Amino acid sequence: MAVNLLDFDLDGLTAYCEGLGEKRFRAIQLCRWIHQKGASDFEQMSDLAKSLRSKLAGVAEVRGLDVISEHVSADGTIKWLFDVGGGNAVESVYIPEDDRGTLCVSSQAGCAVGCRFCSTGHQGFSRNLRTGEIIAQLWFAEHRLRQRQQRTAGDRVIDNVVMMGMGEPLQNYDALVPALRTMLSDHAYGLSRRRVTVSTSGVVPMIDRLRVDCPVALAVSLHAPDDTLRTSLVPINRKYPIAELMDACLRYLDAAPRDFITFEYCMLDGVNDTPEHAAALVALVKHRVPCKLNLIPFNPFPASGLTRSPRERVSAFAKTLQDAGIVTTVRKTRGDDIDAACGQLAGEVQDRTNAAERLARRRVIGIQPAMHTEDAP
Ligand code: SF4
Repeated sequence: MAVNLLDFDLDGLTAYCEGLGEKRFRAIQLCRWIHQKGASDFEQMSDLAKSLRSKLAGVAEVRGLDVISEHVSADGTIKWLFDVGGGNAVESVYIPEDDRGTLCVSSQAGCAVGCRFCSTGHQGFSRNLRTGEIIAQLWFAEHRLRQRQQRTAGDRVIDNVVMMGMGEPLQNYDALVPALRTMLSDHAYGLSRRRVTVSTSGVVPMIDRLRVDCPVALAVSLHAPDDTLRTSLVPINRKYPIAELMDACLRYLDAAPRDFITFEYCMLDGVNDTPEHAAALVALVKHRVPCKLNLIPFNPFPASGLTRSPRERVSAFAKTLQDAGIVTTVRKTRGDDIDAACGQLAGEVQDRTNAAERLARRRVIGIQPAMHTEDAP
C-alpha cells in the first residue's frame, strides 16, 4: 500500500526521502508543495527531479479524506463531515471572525472520555485518527477556502487551529504531535504556537509530555469547581482530580507560548451555574493558576438530559468571575443553523444501521483541495 505523505511531519518526510536515497532538501520541497500549495499529484511538483516524481508515484501518495458533506451557515461558519472509513465520520468547523480564521479539528472518531454534556462522548469511542487524518482536515479546509475565496498564492485563510473537535487529543498523543509540528512548520502552515490550541479534558501525564515535546496554547475543559461535580460531568476527573490538574497547568505555563491557561466551562442549567459554583470557581483558580475563563453556552441534544443555562444566569456567573479579576468571556454561539457544535452531525452518522450505505449516499462528489492555478510557481 502506498505511503500517505500526510502522515509525516518534516522530520518524518526527511527520513522518508533519505530512505529513498534523496537529499534532505527534497523533503522541504515536498512539504511546501503539499501543505503550502495543496498539491496531491507529484506531476504538479515541477521543481522535483523527474526521476523522484516517478519514484514517488510508485510508492507514495497524498491522500486526503473523503468529504461527506459541507454545510455553510448564514454567519459564514462552515462545517465539513469527513468519512474516515468503517462507518465513522469526523467533523471540522471553520469559524471566520473579523481578525482571524479558526479551524476546529478532530483527533479521534468518537471519544472514550464520555463527558455528560458532549454529543461525541455519548457516541462512544471508535478509533484514533492517524496523523494524516488529523492534518488532512487542515489541508483540505485551507485549500478549499482559498478556492472559495479566490485567494492568491500564500494568502492564508486559516491562522488559528483549535484541537476542540471530536475526541480527546491527548489520548491520541503519538499521532497528534507530528500533526501539531506540521501546523507550526514554516515549510507547511507556519502557524504561531500561540495560535494552535490543544484542548484537553485533563490527561495530566500527557499535559506534562506536551510541555516538553511541543508546547502550544492549552485549554482545559474544567466545567466544575469541585471534584464531586466534575467527576459526574467529566469522568476522567476520577483518575486525575482537580488538584493534580491545577498543578499540571502550573507546570505547563513554564513552557507555554501564552502566560495563561484557558479554562472552558460549559454552562448547564441548574447543574454548575449557581452563584455558589461561581464563588467556588473563583476560590479554585484565583491566586493559583493564571487563567482566562471561557463560558460556553450548552448546545442541547436529546440524550444528554441537560439544558442550556438562561442568559441572565450566565451573565451573573461571568460578572462574579470578572469582579474577582478573572478575565472571562462568554463564547458566542456560531453556526447554530448547521449544528456546528462538536459531534452533532457525526452523531447522526453514528447511528450505525447501514452506516456505510448512508455515508456513500451522502458523500459530496468532487470536493477535493486542488492546487490553484495562481499557486503554481
Ligand atoms: S468534551 Fe471532549 S473529552 Fe469530553 S467526551 Fe467530548 S470530545 Fe471527549
